[in-house]
Amino acid sequence: MPEFSLVERLNALNPVRRDDVLLGIGDDCAILKLPVNTELAITTDTLIAGVHFLENTSADAIGYKALAVNLSDLAANGAEPAWATLALSMPQDDPVWLEDFAKGFFRLAKQYGVHLVGGDTTQGALSITVQACGFVPFDQTLRRMGAKPGDYIYVSGFLGDAGLELISKQGGPGSRLDYPVPRVELGMSLRNIATAAIDISDGLVADLGHILTASNVGATIHLEQLPLSDFLRSHCEINIGQELALSAGDDYELCFTVAPEKAFEIENLIKVKGLPITAIGTIEAQSGLRILDLNRQQVVVKKSGFRHFSGNYFS
Ligand code: ADP
Ligand code: MG
Repeated sequence: MPEFSLVERLNALNPVRRDDVLLGIGDDCAILKLPVNTELAITTDTLIAGVHFLENTSADAIGYKALAVNLSDLAANGAEPAWATLALSMPQDDPVWLEDFAKGFFRLAKQYGVHLVGGDTTQGALSITVQACGFVPFDQTLRRMGAKPGDYIYVSGFLGDAGLELISKQGGPGSRLDYPVPRVELGMSLRNIATAAIDISDGLVADLGHILTASNVGATIHLEQLPLSDFLRSHCEINIGQELALSAGDDYELCFTVAPEKAFEIENLIKVKGLPITAIGTIEAQSGLRILDLNRQQVVVKKSGFRHFSGNYFS
């Protein structure tokens, strides 16, 4: 494979050139200058054909999503994205595929000022590993740990759309499955406001569960407060939609907790910045996650649908 020319072609399409990149593509390492009084945030995610995306997914969508899921991780920790590396394994050098991939990748990179500073290229089954780096002001990192009893629980955007698209194999242009929106601005805005945060990649129940475990607390959330899009509501019954919102994953929205005395800051983010945020429940001292329906009955999510039960979700 003509690796060098492939990298040159890729780099020629790179629309972002940051001044803090002292060495980028073309040397052995990238050398990057962190702003003063910041801490480095690093995350990496791999997408494998047939495992993490449907076989017919466009190269544009793969390029976009490979970066988007990493930016979502940076957002969850309140980091400002800055740099990325890309390890690409492909069956053969397919210039058309690569250009399409680069379009999707760099469209998003440009949106957030992310400079592709290096990577690796190998021949093999299609697999894409992106490492994204960013920074957080000293001591302002958001974590999974930190939620306290009494904190309100919020989520951004809508939940369940990507899950519906996945089970109905309805990805494509404009789909939430192929083109998740990383909540970068929200994550950065939540520094000094949220007590804990995570991005929802595996479904609300699983990912909120990580906050609860890390924070050593429990929670109650309310089914009818889950933010469901008109798209979801019009394409499936409400209980299926709620189930997808709870457990399907691939949403890449943020779930976070805020002390009641800072709730007004969330109202400000909604009103002033127009960020889509919904309150869904409350952190409690009692461990476990309780999901209540309109009648305040606890429900559990199964693949076959809801079942009323006694006890909490994890019991
Ligand atoms: P080395 O052999 O020293 O690891 P390579 O020949 O693998 O270097 O890569 C040459 C340069 O091209 C390096 O700066 C590397 O970071 C960059 N590079 C290689 N593959 C990619 C890629 N897929 N995306 C971005 N940069 C890449
Ligand atoms: Mg080298």
